Amino acid sequence: MSPESPFVPRGRRGAQRLWLWVMVLTANGGRCVYCDLADAETLEHERPVADQGHDVWWNLLPACDRCNGWKRGRTAAEWVADMKLQLRWPKLRFTKNTLPLATVEGIRARVGRTRAEIRDPDRSRWFEHHYGDRSRPPRRAGIHEVARECGRTLARYPHRPWTTPESPRATGRFCTRRMCCPGSHPDARWETVMVASLDHHRFQVAAFEEGLHPGDLLGNLVRRYLAERGGV
Ligand SMILES: [Zn+2]
Ligand SMILES: [Zn+2]
Repeated sequence: MSPESPFVPRGRRGAQRLWLWVMVLTANGGRCVYCDLADAETLEHERPVADQGHDVWWNLLPACDRCNGWKRGRTAAEWVADMKLQLRWPKLRFTKNTLPLATVEGIRARVGRTRAEIRDPDRSRWFEHHYGDRSRPPRRAGIHEVARECGRTLARYPHRPWTTPESPRATGRFCTRRMCCPGSHPDARWETVMVASLDHHRFQVAAFEEGLHPGDLLGNLVRRYLAERGGV
């Protein structure tokens, strides 16, 4: 995480920075953690702010507006318990609206998985690197558009970029994830190579199997060659 704490005063969800919104909204595949169906639209407090659940990033989960409104001031566990009672005894009023039973039964595991995803320091650092400098659009629809675009960008990677190793010269200021944008490193230089198309294809496959950006694999080969060759 950034040395600068993303903590903001309680109850000011709208004041969270853009990278934090995008980081939370893209967790759980961009879907609401509760119904697992609708697009995530808001940052939901898994533990309500009123119940000592501070408005800090590790208490936030992606939710749709409907589930956020239905859950209201309850913890996820309390809401699940109320919905189960309601589904069992529909005539008694434990809670006004419920999700289907199979969905309700998956909430606990989904919340746990999504919380672990959001608390992953490599993942949050990646979002801060990529979105930390951008200012928050004035409207929530603008934030949703950035989050959707981010989801589309992430779908292009063969691996989640934050799970791949960092370049050995990582400074902390630049994103140096090997499957992401190693070219942003201040010491990075580009080189172009000319190969036959069949070799190019086989090399791309080999890089994928190594879990490396083709450029990084090429860089490794060049370094090995230079080490073997010796001299300056
Ligand atoms: Zn929902
Ligand atoms: Zn990157």
